[in-house]
Amino acid sequence: MLACGTLPLHKLASQYGTPLYVYSADHILYRAGLFAAEFTGTPHTLCYSVKANSNLSILKLLAGQGSGFDIVSGGELERVLHVGKAAAQKVVFSGVGKRAEEMDLAIQSGILIFNVESEAELDLLAQRASKLKKRVRMALRVNPDVFAETHPYISTGLHEHKFGIDIRAARKVYAKAAKFKWLDPAGVSVHIGSQIRSVEPFGAALGRVARLVQTLGRDGLKIRYIDAGGGLGIEYHADHAFDPAAKVHSYAQVLRKAIAGLDVHLLLEPGRFIVAQAGALLATVLYVKKNGSKTFVVTDAGMNDLIRPALYQAHHEIQPLKTAGKKTQTVDVVGPVCETGDFFARDRNLPVLTAGDQVALLDAGAYGMSQASNYNTRPRPAEVLVQGKKTTLVRRRESVQELLQPEIF
Ligand SMILES: *Cc1c(COP(=O)(O)O)cnc(C)c1O
Repeated sequence: MLACGTLPLHKLASQYGTPLYVYSADHILYRAGLFAAEFTGTPHTLCYSVKANSNLSILKLLAGQGSGFDIVSGGELERVLHVGKAAAQKVVFSGVGKRAEEMDLAIQSGILIFNVESEAELDLLAQRASKLKKRVRMALRVNPDVFAETHPYISTGLHEHKFGIDIRAARKVYAKAAKFKWLDPAGVSVHIGSQIRSVEPFGAALGRVARLVQTLGRDGLKIRYIDAGGGLGIEYHADHAFDPAAKVHSYAQVLRKAIAGLDVHLLLEPGRFIVAQAGALLATVLYVKKNGSKTFVVTDAGMNDLIRPALYQAHHEIQPLKTAGKKTQTVDVVGPVCETGDFFARDRNLPVLTAGDQVALLDAGAYGMSQASNYNTRPRPAEVLVQGKKTTLVRRRESVQELLQPEIF
């Protein structure tokens, strides 16, 4: 029987209905705690990447443990402010397309630092800061041209990607930044991609950043913050061994080595690593159908609820909530959405499933609900947070009425 802590998941599925996202607060705090433990002795701030899972209750949980936040939009900033005005002081603002209004809100909220991704953005930030008469800390997000093995859609650290500023051009842009009265070029930031399972690329990228920080120092610019970005990967396959504590340990070793000797405050922006394995998407089998030689298990959850398999060919383990018989069957697990890409698994050997059975798509806590949509006019799932024996509905299921409401008709 599949459980969250001691709580059987089928009970939650019956109580709240499916599709349902279930998160373990205890596991989220455990994951965040690994960073605190492994980086003791290194001045650092954990800035959880809000886009991985932006549910307010999860943000509140992490803020309560002292976490800061990495945001990529004004909307995400509003979420952090909703959790608590003080939380803004530990906010890092990333993203290639910040609008003036978003900058203004962030400046007025007193965020920790902006990660600037282009020279044009630098000009706009200087203009907004000057207008508001607030000195603004900023870093350039540099592109270190480091290759990291991951899905092409979530790789960001090469020259061909839209993110950041070529590290070879950074020195010139810092010289320009230093001339703006209302800008404080306080940091250098880097983020090479997501779901990177080996720690070496992080070391290589940060090594290049460290050399840039030294060069800037010689230019007379004292850099106080190095933002190492996020991207630390997990194992989605049950048959791949994975020890999260050992992973953060080797990650911390590689980063510390890269910045050894520098007097800087390290910013860390993990998203997936904190929440992915703390969450599951529960679904109910609607039908089992055969087309020729193929068997399809149709669930009430679809690609609008969890798009990762369709978008990144991502793998999610699927398990029945109640112990099934020993017999297995090779099936495709698909959703009700009218797209061939609407699948959760292809040719997967699973215990034999029949209509009414409930299943869990595991490791769905990151980029699950945060990427969910209303495609096919499907209300998004409800979300439940489990802490110890306590379960809290942290987002109720949407109704179709709510989806129609903004339409002018
Ligand atoms: C998405 C993102 C992160 C988080 O990435 P994960 O792979 O979820 O750890 C961190 N920093 C920036 C700038 C991002 O865009």
